[in-house]
Amino acid sequence: MKDAIPHCQSFTYKIINIDMIHNNSLYYLPYDFIKNKKMKLSDLSDLKPKNSITFFIMLIFYGIIQMGAIWQQKEKFQIQKEKMIQQQLKSRGISDRKVLDAFLEVERHKFVLPEYREQAYGDFPLMIKEGQTISQPYVVAFMTEQLALEKDDKVLEIGTGSGYQAAILAQLCDSVFTVEIFETLANDAKTLFQELGYNNIFVKHGDGYLGWPEHAPYDAIIVTCSPKHIPEPLKEQLAERGKMIIPVGTGFAQNLVLLEKKKGKIRQRNVLPVRFVPMINEQGKSY
Ligand code: SAH
Repeated sequence: MKDAIPHCQSFTYKIINIDMIHNNSLYYLPYDFIKNKKMKLSDLSDLKPKNSITFFIMLIFYGIIQMGAIWQQKEKFQIQKEKMIQQQLKSRGISDRKVLDAFLEVERHKFVLPEYREQAYGDFPLMIKEGQTISQPYVVAFMTEQLALEKDDKVLEIGTGSGYQAAILAQLCDSVFTVEIFETLANDAKTLFQELGYNNIFVKHGDGYLGWPEHAPYDAIIVTCSPKHIPEPLKEQLAERGKMIIPVGTGFAQNLVLLEKKKGKIRQRNVLPVRFVPMINEQGKSY
């Protein structure tokens, strides 16, 4: 040992002299460090698996454990989703088979912030970025059902938010055009739709009060933020025999209004008291 590390000892003792008074443990630190370093150089092969077959088996085993964990997580959300459909939607009167199937198809936990993933199927709205919200599942289902969509319909949504409502609509119609006032939300939703493989949802960053005239008229319009009055551009962009559902009012005094255009005339009625975030302009002022 004297030959192997001749000046390590003096180095070690130097450390003792300086630091022993403060902390005894420092005595072991440089000595062990050098000793280990010596060992590592000569016996490095000991740290590797003995042969590539062992390594390969270990890798497969690790993969199986990982896949099992992912599958378990998926299974857990699937159960929560089915429970949500039964207890929050069917039991409250949502009966359109196509709407219920759309809810079974779309994985709500992929549309919420990571910190809320465990609560994604709860009976309440959740916070998303920019102080906005993803609507309660029942409200999303109710509004969707009211539109009675056909599979070749073109739909306009105002207020993309998390993108969940748009994803539900995309299961039921030909195409969804959705407008969002916050650029971050519009960009996040665009990325998510791409990741999830939706090619019939088109996102625009802009003021939805004005609708999206380039693609009008729309067979259905759904508004998920609340103005004090129904925007005139949206009425104009609604197709003949088209339907629009929109929350109107402020704070707690809001009502979902269902409009129908027949022979150019619009008839409307209140269908449900609700509470949505306000419709705002580019300056953040409520409409
Ligand atoms: N449909 C959404 C609900 C989001 S909450 C979902 O499924 O998650 C309503 C959204 O409307 C918010 O994201 C808000 O930023 C947006 N919004 C408010 N005023 C708007 C406007 N003038 N034009 C477009 N979007 C607006």
